Amino acid sequence: MNPRICNFYITFQCNDTCEFCQVWQSSGYSSYDLRASEDKQGIGIKLEELKKRGIQILNIDGGEPLLVEHLPRVIEKAKELGIFIRLFTNGIVYPDRAKELRGLSDEICFAMDYPSADAHDRSRGIESFSELISSLKTARELGEKAILFFTMTRDSVLYLPEAVELAEKHGTILQLNPVYDFNGTQGFDKDTVRHIRYFFKRKSVRLDMAVLEFARNRGNSVLLPRCRASQAVLTLLPDLKEVGPCLYNQGGRQGREDICSSCMRWPYIEPSFEMGFDKYRMLHIYSKWYNSKKLTPRPPLLPREGQQRG
Ligand code: SF4
Repeated sequence: MNPRICNFYITFQCNDTCEFCQVWQSSGYSSYDLRASEDKQGIGIKLEELKKRGIQILNIDGGEPLLVEHLPRVIEKAKELGIFIRLFTNGIVYPDRAKELRGLSDEICFAMDYPSADAHDRSRGIESFSELISSLKTARELGEKAILFFTMTRDSVLYLPEAVELAEKHGTILQLNPVYDFNGTQGFDKDTVRHIRYFFKRKSVRLDMAVLEFARNRGNSVLLPRCRASQAVLTLLPDLKEVGPCLYNQGGRQGREDICSSCMRWPYIEPSFEMGFDKYRMLHIYSKWYNSKKLTPRPPLLPREGQQRG
């Protein structure tokens, strides 16, 4: 079975320094050859090939994808091929590039660590909360489908009510995501899990209950791996090389290496729940159905400059 999802790490350059992210901390990422990601024609040909191989969803991530100058051309090409596009960004330069990107992505996910300026900026290592809020406003004005992507740690999960309030104020969906880092989630005790589950019922909140259950059970077991990264996801690096089974375990055995112990790298683990028949698959299907009932429709696009409303 060919994967239908591609995680495209279009660059490993980043303008953020998040405390839980390895990309900016590891020289392995920062020294990566980025020249090929400038190869517009090469990316177009690669996307055509991926489409023929069955890719239906393209997650564009990084690093910070908005640092890639020709990003709009890449998204346009994928859109032309009928691929669903989910763009991940920290929002820092989004207000400056929003018009070029307008109407191209199916979803734009804006990363948030805390729903307040002090804590978010401290976690990110730079002042960026005001840019995040400005991004949400801009995305709304331009009719984009914005998702506020809230990475929950043992600490930030305490601010869930404020995060929901912020998302509702800006008319976006709040996507709840436990942090990948095992050290950040191992403290999710029963009461915290119950607390998070309670918010699943909110109309503005999107959560995969399989993800929460997997985090509660301490992630992937190397003895009996639940990871299906190779079958579920294709990984594309900035130089357009494909690696597997995932970005973090290149060339190793799927779910069985040391790095796989307690793994909760959701860009791979969540799609893994599409495979197999167990409680995670059931919770995943149920969550998709439940979330789809409450997703708000994309707001109408405002006219482009010089264009009149119809
Ligand atoms: S590190 Fe990669 S291969 Fe290992 S369990 Fe996590 S996603 Fe799967």
